[in-house]
Amino acid sequence: MLRYAKYENMRKNGFIRPFNKLQVTSWVYVSYLFCIFSFMTITLFPQPLKTIIAIGYAGILFSVVLTGFWCTYIDPTDPALFEAAQSKLLSKPVDYKKYPKICKICKNHVNSDTKHCRECDKCVYHFDHHCKWLNNCIGKKNYKLYAFLLASFQMHNLMICICGGIVIRGILEQNIYYENLSTRMHITQGSLGIYLTLLLMMEILSLLASIGMSQLILFHLYLAFKKMTTYEYILLKRRNKSRYRISTIKVVNEKEAIEEVPLEEVYEPYIENPQYKHDETLQEVTTTNKKVAPSDYINPQLDNDQNPHP
Ligand SMILES: [Zn+2]
Ligand SMILES: [Zn+2]
Repeated sequence: MLRYAKYENMRKNGFIRPFNKLQVTSWVYVSYLFCIFSFMTITLFPQPLKTIIAIGYAGILFSVVLTGFWCTYIDPTDPALFEAAQSKLLSKPVDYKKYPKICKICKNHVNSDTKHCRECDKCVYHFDHHCKWLNNCIGKKNYKLYAFLLASFQMHNLMICICGGIVIRGILEQNIYYENLSTRMHITQGSLGIYLTLLLMMEILSLLASIGMSQLILFHLYLAFKKMTTYEYILLKRRNKSRYRISTIKVVNEKEAIEEVPLEEVYEPYIENPQYKHDETLQEVTTTNKKVAPSDYINPQLDNDQNPHP
């Protein structure tokens, strides 16, 4: 008997454990830069530059944290699954005719522009990619927010990289920044080495992040120009390789059984919904007056034992 994966049991967002290592790394990265930049870099700038940079940094950091949190918190699941779960809660019939595809992995009826994410183990509407840094999928619901996050994060990195560079250079040239070290921060010659090392680490990290983010932003600008998602781009690249059509790959399904399927199916694990639009009897098949608990509900089109296809 085939049971479909229930929306209630699906991973909702990127804050659901286990956290990804890259996600935790991003939290440590932002926190480290916040400490070094706020308390060891901005303080060395002369006024009114110090106030201007502090206000600018606070605004950018707020934007990064807010968009990062929001993008991670949003659930990008296909709305078809929400609708089905809600209908079942209210014991209403689900109009499966609306959905052209059935996912072979989670066994749900979904919209045409949907892709099953194996990391989240759910179908994501207008899937772009699974972001390990956010531990969440990027789809229709959070793509704009993701783009805003990329822009704010790049501003954050560039600001720290440029201001850090000015301060390090000022200290090495022993100008006003060097003087502020002793007057404002009370740094002596003995602790100058540690201070400079922490600043240099911030500088290197922000520089590397800036380079990485520049590439990512350019890639997404290219995708926007081509009107493609990241997933469509990857799919196109893979389809261009002849071995794509004949290769096989081992995948783990939701019940942890290992099966070998054609690589093509890994990327397009869908079948057409036989009742899409043209089956007028579907309403009668799916409608039950009996109150059904969501956890007990079995997708009527996929459970051949109980509800054979008409
Ligand atoms: Zn699915
Ligand atoms: Zn995902």
